[in-house]
Amino acid sequence: MKASEDREFNDNHQTTDRTMKNLHMVDLSAQYEKIHREIQEQIQETLTTTQFINGPKVEQFASSLATYLSCDYVIPCANGTDALQIALMAVGLQPGDEVIVPSFTYVATAEVIALLKLTPIMIDVDPQTFNVTAELIEPHITEKTKAIVPVHLFGQNCDLEPILALARRHDLWVIEDAAQSIGADYTFSDGRIMKSGTMGHIGCTSFFPSKNLGCYGDGGAIFTRDAELAQKLKMIANHGQSRRYYHEIIGVNSRLDALQAGILQVKLAHLDEYGHARYQAAQWYHQKFADNHQLITPYEAPYTNHVYHQYTLQVANGQRDGLDQYLTEKQIPHAIYYPVPLYEQNAFSPFRGLVDYLPVTDQLCKSVISLPIHTEMDEEMVSYIADAVNGYF
Ligand SMILES: *Cc1c(COP(=O)(O)O)cnc(C)c1O
Repeated sequence: MKASEDREFNDNHQTTDRTMKNLHMVDLSAQYEKIHREIQEQIQETLTTTQFINGPKVEQFASSLATYLSCDYVIPCANGTDALQIALMAVGLQPGDEVIVPSFTYVATAEVIALLKLTPIMIDVDPQTFNVTAELIEPHITEKTKAIVPVHLFGQNCDLEPILALARRHDLWVIEDAAQSIGADYTFSDGRIMKSGTMGHIGCTSFFPSKNLGCYGDGGAIFTRDAELAQKLKMIANHGQSRRYYHEIIGVNSRLDALQAGILQVKLAHLDEYGHARYQAAQWYHQKFADNHQLITPYEAPYTNHVYHQYTLQVANGQRDGLDQYLTEKQIPHAIYYPVPLYEQNAFSPFRGLVDYLPVTDQLCKSVISLPIHTEMDEEMVSYIADAVNGYF
């Protein structure tokens, strides 16, 4: 199954094999079983109070998340894409300004840049971490560069300390795309630990159902430590108004609704435990693949922990498409994130000339495959999937 993000969520696909039912890329239904009482209570409260938009549930969740992240301001919004757009609107860029992003990411990261008439400079990533690094960013900084959007792909932080230093030297905004990495800790060289999305000027996340902190619809949030930016972000997300019916700047309508905030309040309390469950599943996979020299298992960098939004293998010697087809036949859920570099997408053709050939991104798009990983996996499921993968070679 080559799942798109939303098909992944709607994936009711089950294996017909009698020995191993209920394999999914994510298993939101088994997760829900365990927290359904609290969730029902939250939903019932909102239905009773009819405070559907804004109000105490949204405020309470924003405040709980700010505490969890040790970040001063959390501004909830409608989805992760909006979070990125609002962040870019808040830092006052001009049409034609350049924003550096990885070419190996979900489309939303670069889409909002183009939408705002800014110029996405889609660069290559590190072959081990799949993330951008300061070394990869630096050669692309020009007079026009105004911001960097590092993406903490698949649940692991970029090596952000050198990126922050580089940004400071060149006076650039750093807007973290933490849609896949919420809860991941980054350790600075002096030992300080900070949460993903709270280190740059602004951080953005998504509560899409299959994300590590997912609601039961769409949702997103923006993080910052800067009071002035927080004010501006809040204003932009709410039609640019400073108070009701007084509009200072052009904004958008982007809200998290109270039903989702209540659900997220419940799930936030489990976020660390969910991260550990995902990490444990990854360790089981690592063991099962330790002797398979046709596969490269995910690298775990020393400066960050990994919350395994995805468990993504690299398949050697051009065998990825064969494995893809084999797993489809065996009815083992799997997905390819991402099959096409952004700079090769038709939508981004106007920006293609701005980047050279990106060998790592290109190679990753041809060699990666992601296996099921979620909060409800046990060792037996991992073994079953890993045995099927190993059986191909
Ligand atoms: C999911 C995702 C987004 C967008 O979030 P939505 O809530 O779907 O709009 C942005 N960037 C990355 C890296 C993502 O994975």
